[in-house]
Amino acid sequence: MTKSSDPGVNAAYGIATRLSHAGRSHSPDMPFVNVPVVRASTVLFEDVHAMHAPETKYHYGRRGTPTSEALTDAMNELEGAAGTVLAPSGLAAISVALLSCLSAGDHLLVSDTAYRPTRGVCNGVLKRLGIETTYFDPGLGAGIEALFKPNTKAVFTEAPGSLTFEMMDIPAIAEVAHRHGATVLMDNTWATPLFFKPLDHGVDLSIMAATKYVVGHSDAMIGTVAANARAWPALKATYGDLGMFTGPDDMWLALRGLRTMAVRLERHQKSTLAVARWMQDQPAVERVLYPALPDDPGHAIWKRDFCGASGLFGVILKPCSKDAIAAMLDGLDLFGLGYSWGGFESLAIPCDMSGIRTATKWDLDTPLLRFHIGLEDPKDLIADLKAGFDRLAARG
Ligand SMILES: *Cc1c(COP(=O)(O)O)cnc(C)c1O
Repeated sequence: MTKSSDPGVNAAYGIATRLSHAGRSHSPDMPFVNVPVVRASTVLFEDVHAMHAPETKYHYGRRGTPTSEALTDAMNELEGAAGTVLAPSGLAAISVALLSCLSAGDHLLVSDTAYRPTRGVCNGVLKRLGIETTYFDPGLGAGIEALFKPNTKAVFTEAPGSLTFEMMDIPAIAEVAHRHGATVLMDNTWATPLFFKPLDHGVDLSIMAATKYVVGHSDAMIGTVAANARAWPALKATYGDLGMFTGPDDMWLALRGLRTMAVRLERHQKSTLAVARWMQDQPAVERVLYPALPDDPGHAIWKRDFCGASGLFGVILKPCSKDAIAAMLDGLDLFGLGYSWGGFESLAIPCDMSGIRTATKWDLDTPLLRFHIGLEDPKDLIADLKAGFDRLAARG
């Protein structure tokens, strides 16, 4: 074995080892630990023969560079995928994945708990192209079969679901979908392949907003779609036809994030469990929505299929005024008020559920908050939240 071979490809290694090494290679003329940021549009060829030779690796900036290749190699390894594409955002990754397996006249099933902009793609672009969407109750499991039509070509899942953290029985849904010849997609941003490997549980297209935990520092936007061998040819072709690519700096930031992702997620998980358990004991709290908690309705499925929980969870409060919630959140010292998540920093938002549940009911008067627990010391976060609950109680 020479020093330039890549230990990342050895499947016997643990995931933290592979994340440290995946997608890296070095040689005497490129001896650096990290792959460079290759900025490229035009690629120059040695001669006319090389322009068409099958062994020529690079052809044009959009069709792949050493930077994009390092990231897709690493993602293939992390996901156990036949191939991965890199989109300019998580939402673009969702769009290209859906467009790769749907055509005019097809029917699509989407979890009622899907990330709100995913509904935008379905109700907008896909509808305009003649693709019909039916939203389904995430709790259906194998019962989803009743919703299949002869033209159902894809099932889009997300677990735990956005905002309400409801779990889904992915293997049961995948089994039904495959029996009907449909492709199974999953938005796996919450767990990442470190805590749930979609392709090992029957999913064909595993989607991630790498913007969140892969990048990990709230400073780049990027999405990934990893495909199994069955779904890869169509994904690759659609991605190429649409002319999608991603900026080299963003790819490089994602590669950098991958190297520390295992330790970051371990810490996010530990701190989040501590904060979520503390939250359960607060008098203003009705229920904490986090499948890693033993009394969460999704806990059994989570425990069966997942091997960890990340830093995002929801909290249903007992009835209180909007002013009281604002007083609680506005005064937080360590929690930023911001969308997105997955960075090193803690965040909080009040959730607006209006218009995003159509297959199942959600009481719109229930006050719902979402927290992301960052890498700060959990005791400081808890003290900050405690002061927040005091402000909430003072306003009523
Ligand atoms: C943020 C997010 C996305 C979209 O990612 P962007 O990079 O912001 O486009 C998709 N799905 C989930 C669950 C998300 O939280």
